[in-house]
Amino acid sequence: MRPPRGSLLVRGIGLLVTNRPELGEGALGVLRDVDLVVEDGTVAWIGGARTSPAADEMLDAAGRCVVPGFVDSHTHLVFAGDRVEEFTARMAGTRYDTGGISATVAATRSAPQGVLMESAAKLAREAEAQGTTTLETKSGYGLTVADESRCLEVAGTIAEEVTFLGAHVVAPEYRGSEQEYVALVTGPMLEACAPKARWCDVFCEEGVFGPDAAREILQAGLDHGLGLRVHANQLSCGPGVQLAVEMGAASADHCTHLDGADVDALAGSDTVATLLPGAEFSTRSPYPDARRLLDSGVTVALATDCNPGTSYTTSMPFVIALAVREMHMTPDEALFAATAGGARALRREEIGALTPGSRGDLVVLNAPTAAHLAYRPGVALVATVVRAGRVLG
Ligand SMILES: [Zn+2]
Repeated sequence: MRPPRGSLLVRGIGLLVTNRPELGEGALGVLRDVDLVVEDGTVAWIGGARTSPAADEMLDAAGRCVVPGFVDSHTHLVFAGDRVEEFTARMAGTRYDTGGISATVAATRSAPQGVLMESAAKLAREAEAQGTTTLETKSGYGLTVADESRCLEVAGTIAEEVTFLGAHVVAPEYRGSEQEYVALVTGPMLEACAPKARWCDVFCEEGVFGPDAAREILQAGLDHGLGLRVHANQLSCGPGVQLAVEMGAASADHCTHLDGADVDALAGSDTVATLLPGAEFSTRSPYPDARRLLDSGVTVALATDCNPGTSYTTSMPFVIALAVREMHMTPDEALFAATAGGARALRREEIGALTPGSRGDLVVLNAPTAAHLAYRPGVALVATVVRAGRVLG
């Protein structure tokens, strides 16, 4: 992303969350009554009001709270159609067999590129309006060489971080011959897709991709120069989390079912546990044990998992509220996980915090403190979003 030229002064910040404890109060390094200047996309200055340098543009925070822009490090935004009937039936407790992911795969394959582009862009704008300034998104509803490749092209137009997920499920036409599908994913599909992605991901779960197939896919991704992420331990305990750690993945995502060895492996590693409580909310499933992870010293990220089947939300504030209410994270922990945690999950240094040298990504909240994000769930508290010093909206 090319940063805009020029400078922006954000003045009258009542409370600034820097996410750098050494800079201010508490775990989030909070500063009070400050101004902040972004120059050519990067935070250049933070200091007391009335001492701030001149700038080309000015934004008045009017005494409200300013937080780093949200980093949504796990979404699936490139798809066609929706699965509202499936959701409605699930909420009513009745069976409704729409084919799950396969239904979205069929709709995505038959959608023209323009339709995919428009729908993904709409979701990205929705996320941005709710404070997301960095977005990761994946392929995974194409499952042919051509369709995965064109889904990644769409992903690249709406998200900074693009992930190849040809190994989302075994493509319907390969059912019963999984090994052949793995050969396609690690061969021609990866060949076509690797240049369009930064990351390679696999859904490692019993009945989807087992440990051997998952390892083969991740190794092929590494060999093609991609970083790794893993959909791990979502539906049951399994090898996903420990495989992610062993392979040096940036993130193990979901982590809903963990045993002690999984937690120990994460705690001793650079692999972030990315929790996606929107999925548990939308499927009425038990939530991941965030407290155990945090208390063991694991780095936790929060993301939306936005997808048409199991978590059709783009709202990071909603995910923060869920994390606090349902996973017993403190409001500070949840905000940190939704910003700095996401940055760690994407191995990015310049986002997720507000300190000189950070990218100028910030959200002015219609609230005096960040705890209001969880305290006032469902209320539109995002007043203004700034990405790289540019006021959006
Ligand atoms: Zn996912």
